[in-house]
Amino acid sequence: MQPINDKKADQLTVRRLNMSAFLKLLRDRGTLARADLAKELGTTRNTASNIVTELLKAGLVVETEYRREGAGRPGLLLELAPNGGFAIGAEIDINRISVIVVDFKGNILWEESPQIRPSLPQKEIIAMAEQLVQTALDWGKAENLKPLGIGLGLAGLVDAEAGSLIYAPTLNWNDIPFKSMWESTFGLTVYLDNEANTAALGYYAYADRFTARNLAYLSIGAGMAAGLILDRKIFRGSGGFAGQAGHMKIRPDGEPCTCGDRGCWVTEVGLPAFERKTGQPHIDLEEVARLLRTGDSELGAVIDEISEMLGLGIANLVNLFNLDCVVLGGAIRPILPFILEKTRTTVDQRALKHLRDNVKVKISGRDDSVFGAAYLVLEAVLNNPVPLTRSLP
Ligand SMILES: [Zn+2]
Repeated sequence: MQPINDKKADQLTVRRLNMSAFLKLLRDRGTLARADLAKELGTTRNTASNIVTELLKAGLVVETEYRREGAGRPGLLLELAPNGGFAIGAEIDINRISVIVVDFKGNILWEESPQIRPSLPQKEIIAMAEQLVQTALDWGKAENLKPLGIGLGLAGLVDAEAGSLIYAPTLNWNDIPFKSMWESTFGLTVYLDNEANTAALGYYAYADRFTARNLAYLSIGAGMAAGLILDRKIFRGSGGFAGQAGHMKIRPDGEPCTCGDRGCWVTEVGLPAFERKTGQPHIDLEEVARLLRTGDSELGAVIDEISEMLGLGIANLVNLFNLDCVVLGGAIRPILPFILEKTRTTVDQRALKHLRDNVKVKISGRDDSVFGAAYLVLEAVLNNPVPLTRSLP
C-alpha cells in the first residue's frame, strides 16, 4: 500500500466539501446561475466551473433554460436533477408498514402503506417490509432511475452508526442488525434511525423547507421521543440515543413510568396519561376527538391538564435549546388540534421572554417519519456526492 499523500487527501476533502455545499445551495434555493456560483461558494471561477462540469456529468445537476422577466433571451440556470437517482424510505410501525420512493429532488413518486396485524410474528413483518422495499426498488429501476439507497425509521432505541435496532418497546423487538441484513439483501447502502429523528428530518425537509435552524419534533404516543435538529443537523448524542424527552422528569412524586422511574413527561402527556385520566384502558383517540368537537366538558378538562403539562415541558426545551420551532406529531395526532392553543399559552407563560418570542409551536399534518427515512439517503448523497461522480468512465 502506498503512503497517503496528504496534499491529495486535502484536495479530495476540499472537492467533496465544495460539491456538497453546492448541492445544498441548489436544494435550498431551487436554482442558481453559473455566474453566481463562485461568489456563493467563495471559490475561484475555475473551481466552481469544474464542480459544475463533474456534477452535470454525474447527472446530479441539470441546466435548464429560464426566461427571466423583462429579459429577452432565456438564461441558463442550474438545479438538482430530479432524475439524479431515487431513494427508498421505509417505516415499520406497530400496525403499518410504509414505503415510499422519492426522486433526487425529494419529490414523492410512489408510496404504499399496508396495515399489518400487530400479532404477526417478527419474521413475517420483516419479510413483508422486505417484499415492499423490493417492489419499490423494481418500480424505480423500471423508471430507469439509479437507486441511491434505503432509509429505515423505527420507533425505539436505534444505533444509527451501526445500523442496528437495539430495542423497540411497542413491537417488542430486540437486537436486529437491519443495516447489514438489508445491505446484503438489496445490495444498497442502508441508513437506519429512530422514528423521532426521521420524523424531525421529514418535517424539516418537506414542511419546513430547511428554514428552521433549531427544531424539536415531539412524537407523542404510547411512548414519547424528541427528534432534535440543532444547528441544522440531527443531534444524536454520545451513544446515539439523545431525544428521550418522554423520560424528562416533570413531577417528582408522579406516576410510575415504563422506564422504572416515576413522574416522567410521557406519563403526563402521552397515551398513558389519556388512559389514566379518562379511566379507559384502550382509548380511541378518533372517538375522543369526535367527543371534543361536541364540547364534552369532562374530556375538555383532561385536555387542559395535558396541554398544560405539554407546554411546561416544551418551555424547558425552549429555554435549553433556544428553538425556532417545536412540532407536535405522533399517534396522538387526532387530538392535537384541541391541545395546541393551551399548549402555546403555557409556553408563552413559562419560557423565558427572549426565547419564547422566537419559537413557533406547530402541529404536523401527516406522518413525517417515512419521508425523513427517504431523506436520510438524500442527505448522505448531499453530504458526500463524490462516490457518485467516481463511477463515471
Ligand atoms: Zn420514564
